[in-house]
Amino acid sequence: MRKINKILVANRGEIALRVMRTAKEMGIKTVAVYSEADRNALHVRFADEAVCVGGPKSNESYLRGDVIIQVCKDLGVDAIHPGYGFLSENAGFAKAVQEAGLIFIGPSPEAIELMGSKLAAKAAVAKYNIPMVPGTEEAITDVEEAKQIATQVGFPILIKASAGGGGKGMRVVDNVEFFEEQMQLAVSEATSAFGDGSVFIEKYIGSPRHIEIQVLGDTHGNIVHLFERECSIQRRHQKVIEEAPSAVLTPALREEMGRNAVNVAKACDYVGAGTVEFLLDENKNFYFLEMNTRLQVEHPVTEQITGLDLVKEQILVAEGQALSFRQEDLKINGHSLELRVYAEDPANNFLPDIGKLETYRRPQGMGVRVDDGFEQGMEIPIYYDPMIAKLVTFGKDRQEAIDKMLRAIEEYQITGIETTLPFGTFVLQHEAFVSGDFDTKFIERHFSPDMLDRKPDEGADEIAVALAAMLMDNQKPATTAASSKTTATTTSNWRRNRT
Ligand code: ADP
Ligand code: ADP
Ligand code: MG
Repeated sequence: MRKINKILVANRGEIALRVMRTAKEMGIKTVAVYSEADRNALHVRFADEAVCVGGPKSNESYLRGDVIIQVCKDLGVDAIHPGYGFLSENAGFAKAVQEAGLIFIGPSPEAIELMGSKLAAKAAVAKYNIPMVPGTEEAITDVEEAKQIATQVGFPILIKASAGGGGKGMRVVDNVEFFEEQMQLAVSEATSAFGDGSVFIEKYIGSPRHIEIQVLGDTHGNIVHLFERECSIQRRHQKVIEEAPSAVLTPALREEMGRNAVNVAKACDYVGAGTVEFLLDENKNFYFLEMNTRLQVEHPVTEQITGLDLVKEQILVAEGQALSFRQEDLKINGHSLELRVYAEDPANNFLPDIGKLETYRRPQGMGVRVDDGFEQGMEIPIYYDPMIAKLVTFGKDRQEAIDKMLRAIEEYQITGIETTLPFGTFVLQHEAFVSGDFDTKFIERHFSPDMLDRKPDEGADEIAVALAAMLMDNQKPATTAASSKTTATTTSNWRRNRT
C-alpha cells in the first residue's frame, strides 16, 4: 500500500480535466503538463501546478517522457496518469516511470508490451480458448505464402498492422489480384506509423458489431468485468457513437463475453482499467480483436450504468488497494450513450475542420454529461486529436438516453467550425439505430452528406439565415432535394428551436 498524494497527468484536453477532477475529489494534488500550443488550455488552469514541457508538436512535449518524469521529481509527484493516446500504451515509458520510483497508473510494462502487439496478444490468450477471427497467427513475410493463406481463409480479408491502433494500419483486400500491392502498402504504412512493419491476415467479417468489455483488475489477483460497450458506429474504423449496454446482447452472451474478457486480462496479469475488444458477427459469434491497456475514450458510458468512477478505481488500484466489490455485486442500471464531438466535417468525409470556436455553449440538464476541454473563443489546435468534447447522456432505458441525446445535441451551440453534432442527430433518428439493427457499416449503408440537418450559423441574423437556406435549397439538384425529403430521419430544416 502506498498512498498517492500528488498526480501528474501526462495528457491534455478533456481527459486531463476528467482525471484531475477525480483526483481533487480524492484530496490528491494535481500537476498539469502542457505544450506551447496549450498555454491557455483549461487543464492548465484547473491543475494545482502546471509546467510547460515543450513545443506544440506532441513529440516535443506530450511525448517527452524524460522531461515529464523530471517534472515529477522536481515537484514531488508520486504518480503519473497517462490518460489515453500519447504515452498511455508506451511500455518503455511505464518502465521508466517505475524505475524513477514513481507509480504508473496503469498495468505493468509487461502487460502493455504484450497487448500492444495484436499478434503477441492472440498468442498469449490462446491458452484460454478465446474465440479468434480466422487468419494468421504469426506475422506474414512471404507474399506467396500469404496469398495462399488468404485464399484459404477466403476473400475478403484484412491485412492488419500488429502494432496498429486508432483505426490505422488496416487494409481490406477483396480479391487475390490486389493482395500483393495491398500487402506492400500495409507494411510500409505500418512501418512509418508504428515503427513496426509486422502485418498479419484476418478474415474480413462482413457485418460485424464492435462490442468491447471493460475490465478492472487489482494487485491482489481480482479481476472483474464492467459489462459491455457497443461501439459499432464508426468512420475510418474509429468510433463516433458508443453505448452501454448493447442493444443486442442477451444476459447469457454478456456473461460469456465477460468471462472471456476476464480471461484475456488474466493472461497478462492485468492490473487497473482495460478494455477487451471483440467483433460480433451476424450469428452472434464473437471474436477477440485486441486489448487496450488504458482508460478508453468511451469509458463514461460504463460509469453511467455502473455508478463507478473508473479513474477513482484506477487510482485506488494503483495505491495497492483491493477492489471493494466482486463480480456479483455489479449491476447494470439504465442506459448511456456517448457522441464524440469532433472538429470534423461529416459532409466532407469526416475530415478535420480546425478553427476557432466562435460560439460554444454546452447543453445541460438531467442525464446530460459533457466532458470537454474548450471554452468559447478558443482555437482547436492543429497538432492533436480533433475531438472537442464527449457528449454523454443517461436514461432509465435506451429510448430515454436517445431522447436526451437528441435534445442535448439541439441545445449544443458550436459555430466557427463543422462538427459531428448533426451527424449524431442523423444517427439517433435513423430507424436502423433506433431499432438496434446496425453494424460497423452503418455509415456506408445509410449515410450520405445531403441527409444532414445542419443548424444555421448561431451568430447570423435569423432572416438572413432563412434566406440563405431558401437559396441553397433552390440550388440543390432536384434529386438531392427529393431524397432529403423522403428521408424519414430529417426533421424540419433551419429551425433553431423545436416548438
Ligand atoms: P478508444 O480505443 O479509446 O475508443 P481510439 O481508438 O479512438 O479510442 O483512440 C484513442 C486515442 O488514442 C486517440 O487519440 C487515438 O489517436 C490514440 N491512439 C490509439 N491507439 C494508438 C496507437 N497505437 N498509436 C497512436 N495513437 C493511438
Ligand atoms: P485498432 O487497434 O485500430 O483499434 P482493431 O483491431 O481494434 O484496431 O479494429 C478497429 C475496427 O476495425 C473494428 O472496430 C472494426 O470496425 C474493424 N475491424 C477490425 N478487424 C476486423 C475484421 N477482422 N473484420 C471486419 N472488421 C474489422
Ligand atoms: Mg481497437
